[in-house]
Amino acid sequence: MTKRVVILGGGTGGTMMANRLRRLYAPDEVEIAVVDRDDRHVYQPGLLFVPFGLTDVDDIVRPRRRQLRDGVAFHEAEVERVDLDADSVHLEDGRTLPYDVLVVATGTRLQPEETEGMTGPGWMENVFTFYSAAGASALARALAELDRGRLVVNFVDLPIKCPVAPLEFAFLADWYLRDCRVRDDVALTLVTPLDGAFTKPVASEHLAGLLAEKGIELVTEFATGEVDGANGRLVSYDDREVPFDLLVTIPLHGGAALVDRSPGLGDDLGFVPTDPRTLQSLARPNVFAIGDATNVPTSKAGSVTHFEAEILTENIRRYLAGEALDATFDGHANCFIETGFHKALLIDFNYEVEPLPGRYPTALGPLPLLRESRLNHMAKLAFQSIYWHMLLPGREIPGISAELQLRGKRAPVAAAGGKE
Ligand SMILES: Cc1cc2nc3c(=O)[nH]c(=O)nc-3n(C[C@H](O)[C@H](O)[C@H](O)COP(=O)(O)OP(=O)(O)OC[C@H]3O[C@@H](n4cnc5c(N)ncnc54)[C@H](O)[C@@H]3O)c2cc1C
Repeated sequence: MTKRVVILGGGTGGTMMANRLRRLYAPDEVEIAVVDRDDRHVYQPGLLFVPFGLTDVDDIVRPRRRQLRDGVAFHEAEVERVDLDADSVHLEDGRTLPYDVLVVATGTRLQPEETEGMTGPGWMENVFTFYSAAGASALARALAELDRGRLVVNFVDLPIKCPVAPLEFAFLADWYLRDCRVRDDVALTLVTPLDGAFTKPVASEHLAGLLAEKGIELVTEFATGEVDGANGRLVSYDDREVPFDLLVTIPLHGGAALVDRSPGLGDDLGFVPTDPRTLQSLARPNVFAIGDATNVPTSKAGSVTHFEAEILTENIRRYLAGEALDATFDGHANCFIETGFHKALLIDFNYEVEPLPGRYPTALGPLPLLRESRLNHMAKLAFQSIYWHMLLPGREIPGISAELQLRGKRAPVAAAGGKE
């Protein structure tokens, strides 16, 4: 009998899963349906470049439908809720989609309203986020006008998508302001709730050094309690203040609202409790999760979503075949960190191994790890094309494996559990 797989979310993870499963099964074996509220697939890493005039929103958006293989049904609708007991999804337009297997790929939701004052006076005037297409475009206009004062970059708390993006924004802002010949008149500050530049010690030290080299002040352990746009003040819960003329903030992230509306599916933050090795939800054996929607303890990143898709495709096959699941997802993440001046760093890590220096082997030759290089920057730029043409269609990228490789990394890694 034909099985029904319903995928909630037609972003990075949902699209990859639909295409990978379509390649694996004939339409009479498995029906695949994707649901998303709109037909605009944003290449989100491109949002970083919009404020600096390096790309336009139109250049990073494509129709969702066109990214899906023939034989995948696309429903443009808001998902109202999942009924776990009835194995069905309720759409806001009144339709119901029954499933044998459900994949939750609904990402995160920005919650600026959760921080006092953030969306009050000044929002989209001197307080912006580049984490949405509208915010990134509006910020481009504000940055172009900035020629003196205090530019503050801040994220309120983890988890956020792409946790290195605030650092990248600060590095690019330094480069942009120098390019505009106003850097001497603009003080640049990165304000973080962390005790260093990044979560993992070796990378944190490297990145703090780079911030200092570029004259970017780092304010740590700052738990943002209030944004006062009218008076240009960022205020912490322990009453510290950082003044700004222009604030670039990354609001709190929660899981998708439909997770909250679906009894038994999510945790308090709206993320889906998920087995970190198999990606099966803890809610039901026939419900799986991928990407930013999960609560697995690794970065919320497209690279993670890509590596997860490989294991999750195999696990849905195993689930439908009645076999034991593959429990080998290791939390693998890699991220390019733009550092300005046409250079970038690369970090590669997983649940156990922190980002280490060395070299990252690829089919086209090794990329330096934790070291600025033009090659890394070019690879980051090339990634947009790889995203549309290889990642989303579910094609293998030669030389890139879902499992972290220790080859090329320099550090004591005896207990790391990766592959040599
Ligand atoms: C500025 C920025 C820079 C980034 N840079 C990088 C980078 O350099 N490298 C990297 O690896 N990652 C990066 N990321 C992160 C990456 O884009 C995400 O981790 C990735 O897209 C996650 O995929 P996903 O499928 O989990 O979620 P998404 O791609 O966000 O898809 C979720 C989908 O669910 C839909 N949805 C949610 N709720 C509903 C509902 N109720 N009804 C219908 N549809 C719904 C949404 O419309 C959305 O399309 C960046 C992100 C940002 C914002």
